[in-house]
Amino acid sequence: MIKIDNLPNIFTKAMPVLQRLEDAGFEAYFVGGSVRDVLLDRHVHDIDITTSAYPEEVKELFEKSIDTGIKHGTVTVLYEGESYEITTFRTESGYQDFRRPDHVTFVQNLDEDLKRRDFTINALAMDIRGQIIDLFNGVEDLKKRVIRAVGNPETRFHEDALRMMRVVRFMSQLEFKLEEKTERAIKDNHELLKKISIERIREEFVKMGLGSHSRQAFQVFLDTQLSEDVPNFAGKKDLLSVYPKLQFSPTMETSLWSIIIILLKMPNESIGKFMRAWKNSNAMTEKVERIINLFDLISEHAPTDYELFQAGEETLINTIDVAHILGQPISSEALVDRYMALPIKKSSELAIDGRFLIEQGMRPGAKLGETLNNIRKLVVSSEIENTQEAIEVYLDELK
Ligand code: ATP
Ligand code: MG
Repeated sequence: MIKIDNLPNIFTKAMPVLQRLEDAGFEAYFVGGSVRDVLLDRHVHDIDITTSAYPEEVKELFEKSIDTGIKHGTVTVLYEGESYEITTFRTESGYQDFRRPDHVTFVQNLDEDLKRRDFTINALAMDIRGQIIDLFNGVEDLKKRVIRAVGNPETRFHEDALRMMRVVRFMSQLEFKLEEKTERAIKDNHELLKKISIERIREEFVKMGLGSHSRQAFQVFLDTQLSEDVPNFAGKKDLLSVYPKLQFSPTMETSLWSIIIILLKMPNESIGKFMRAWKNSNAMTEKVERIINLFDLISEHAPTDYELFQAGEETLINTIDVAHILGQPISSEALVDRYMALPIKKSSELAIDGRFLIEQGMRPGAKLGETLNNIRKLVVSSEIENTQEAIEVYLDELK
């Protein structure tokens, strides 16, 4: 057993919570990702606690709590300005359709709870004294930097097929290798992923895509055939095999989706359908469509001032990111400089509006809209100054 002495603040702050559970006669441990990450010397972003106390018993011990997932034994406790997910020791049973368990059973010992966890490195617990509980050699796997299923990988993937996506997700985030038997089991069972909801797959896929080793993990995602069982990737291995050879790993979700779409050589009119198949939000879909539009445009010719204006700053920055990851030679600095030098960056910055045109004697209607558009274009491309006076002169000339 190993013991950690210098625990980060996030743990010491949570100690009184575990202490209170222990004082009431229950067992309580830090568990899962936080223990893994502290042992890896990675930033710990949140703390999960597992306890022998039932949810109702947990709630009695703390003034403020939220019933986060009370059926599954999880209560969120608010303590000294922080929140902690406290989950009762449990096993999961009755996995149907290779998805989440239909019911959980609360148990009285930690061992059972650790056994239900997916990988050895995620099945570590730590008590209030900093002692690590490691039933499956998770610490050794952390040192060897491998992902290994707890127990028989085949059985574990049949219980919950999402775990196969979690493998590649953690490989990417942690820069880990994959243990052989666990890899074999994915290769033999990848079709089970079809049973999993797209939302859950997307979540793990995006985490994989944004991890620091996403190119290596993506190679495993392809090699194990997992890629055949996610929306719109089947039969596209040749195109997708460029991903592991990219210049960089994406760090923005918009870049991830844009790159996938570009690699798949998707016609523009299919982007919406693709994004919806992956259950992406409309906002994400719109952003990606704008990026691809600008990317196509930039790949063809130097954009005009008005095209840069229409794209907007966010799309421009995101498109430059995409081009950079793809290794496309574009003069990003020049593009940003040109954008920054635009006379106006938003329509609302135009010195006049529709009301002004009406005051100038124009009647409301399509013609007015067209004139306003023309003025905007001329201002953006510096052909007229962005002042009421200059625009009035232009209007006079029109008459
Ligand atoms: P992250 O840093 O991304 O939050 P994490 O390890 O905390 O990583 P979570 O998805 O938050 O990952 O899950 C918390 C813990 O719950 C895991 O460490 C693991 O022990 C367990 N767990 C989560 N999902 C599963 C699953 N599908 N099967 C088995 N155990 C799981
Ligand atoms: Mg977590």
